[in-house]
Amino acid sequence: MTILTLARRKAAALLSSPPSQNPFINNSKVAYYVSSRNMTSDSSENDVIVIGGGPGGYVAAIKAAQMGLKTTCIEKRGSLGGTCLNVGCIPSKALLHSSHMYHEAKHSFASHGVKFSNVEIDLPAMMAQKDKAVSGLTKGIEGLLKKNKVNYVKGWGKFLSPSEVSVDTIDGGNTVVKGKNIIVATGSDVKSLPGITIDEKRIVSSTGALALSEIPKKLIVIGAGYIGLEMGSVWCRLGSEVTVVEFAPDIVPTMDSEVRKQFQRSLEKQKMKFKLKTKVVSVDSSGDSVKLTLEPAEGGEQFILEADVVLVSAGRIPFTEGLQLEKIGVETDKGGRILVNERFATNVPGVYAIGDVIPGPMLAHKAEEDGVACVEYLAGKEGHVDYDMVPGVVYTHPEVAYVGKTEEQVKALGVAYRVGKFPFLANSRAKAIDDAEGIVKILAEKETDKILGVHIMAPNAGELIHEAAIALQYGASSEDIARTCHAHPTMSEAVKEAAMATYDKAIHI
Ligand SMILES: Cc1cc2nc3c(=O)[nH]c(=O)nc-3n(C[C@H](O)[C@H](O)[C@H](O)COP(=O)(O)OP(=O)(O)OC[C@H]3O[C@@H](n4cnc5c(N)ncnc54)[C@H](O)[C@@H]3O)c2cc1C
Repeated sequence: MTILTLARRKAAALLSSPPSQNPFINNSKVAYYVSSRNMTSDSSENDVIVIGGGPGGYVAAIKAAQMGLKTTCIEKRGSLGGTCLNVGCIPSKALLHSSHMYHEAKHSFASHGVKFSNVEIDLPAMMAQKDKAVSGLTKGIEGLLKKNKVNYVKGWGKFLSPSEVSVDTIDGGNTVVKGKNIIVATGSDVKSLPGITIDEKRIVSSTGALALSEIPKKLIVIGAGYIGLEMGSVWCRLGSEVTVVEFAPDIVPTMDSEVRKQFQRSLEKQKMKFKLKTKVVSVDSSGDSVKLTLEPAEGGEQFILEADVVLVSAGRIPFTEGLQLEKIGVETDKGGRILVNERFATNVPGVYAIGDVIPGPMLAHKAEEDGVACVEYLAGKEGHVDYDMVPGVVYTHPEVAYVGKTEEQVKALGVAYRVGKFPFLANSRAKAIDDAEGIVKILAEKETDKILGVHIMAPNAGELIHEAAIALQYGASSEDIARTCHAHPTMSEAVKEAAMATYDKAIHI
């Protein structure tokens, strides 16, 4: 029997026992269950310690505090919100929006009858707007911790034992925090490639690409995942000549291949170039430009590409540096991800892990769901996260969003299925605003009509996808969506029409 199986059994046994007998919980603080007993507790001991203040960690800390658990959140960065708020989702979306506005003003406004004599980029102002968004939101999270009475310790946490964390505080001190349950939410970090040293000036990670002080004439992006394509889009719109180099045969491997092909064509129309099935052999930044030696992935003649800036966007790795996991014997996999059972419990009783540091999609909303469910489980309640129903969004223009299975995955499962599609070219709202590139594609089980996957490429696909996410979560059929009245004229009508096309026929095409 594996340790994880044992842990699962233990968790199941604990669930069936009353919370008052659950040793993972400091019952005196679980007002949720035992408010009438009026117990007291050791004020120095927490019910829950969360290491990491990213979307997984701060959400878990707030949830725990809301459930009446005495909670401390430890964060080394000096500001809350983790990768997402500081160097990820939020600054990238700020720059995507600003660069889109510039691109629209330059290329689309005139056809809508809005004319300027000149459109200029003020890069420092664009960066200042991004920084303002980041600092406003990170301070907002600090306010939320305060409001919910979460104790916030700024510093680097490391395990002394399964119930003690030593924190080297950012002001140079040290403190030991004690707790019955510890949630590791230390997130992920940039993955470099062998032989490439990221200097964050000319060879940058996404963090450097969010803070360039000049628009590079030529930018090479290594890696065609969503982060590389989003950052490539930003600089492409601002005037950089962007080439994306990818070892795999396709961009964004998690995307439905039919939608992916349309998406790549769209990015190519925006002048992004792609070198797929291409391997980076070496990078030389000793001269005026950065020289990349490349070769076909299957082997062949080498060639050189030059750029002012190279963005290394080859994925992210779990971050557990300096945590001293080995000291308490927490198990990790080969990739360094902390192994947990379905209740987020590690092999060490009382120690849990959530977010990017465990297996599963490395996404902020997944980390948040983990955080809430983990706390619910450790408090003896039921939690719920289904990784098959985590939406994925690429925030380019058009955006691509998807939830559930791709057509390739459905085929591989051997399930008989139907496909319904509807192009935005036939959607009245998209035509009215002259932004009609894209498609909705729905996959449903043939026999039951149950929706298996939804894929949307559209200007606001990241918002449209949630109708599909709810449908999937509730086990809806395509007919359920098709028979739901959708307001006119909206982009959402394309979702309804694709659903009609899945179980019967679309009207407007
Ligand atoms: C450029 C970019 C764009 C992205 N865009 C999106 C997007 O649009 N949508 C999306 O869903 N996801 C996006 N992501 C991914 C998203 O940021 C992560 O999935 C998410 O932040 C993971 O949350 P987390 O809480 O698990 O970890 P993190 O956000 O990484 O937070 C972990 C925190 O733990 C702290 N920490 C680590 N070790 C210790 C320690 N020992 N002691 C104390 N503190 C510690 C770190 O300082 C960090 O702040 C993006 C990522 C990048 C890089």
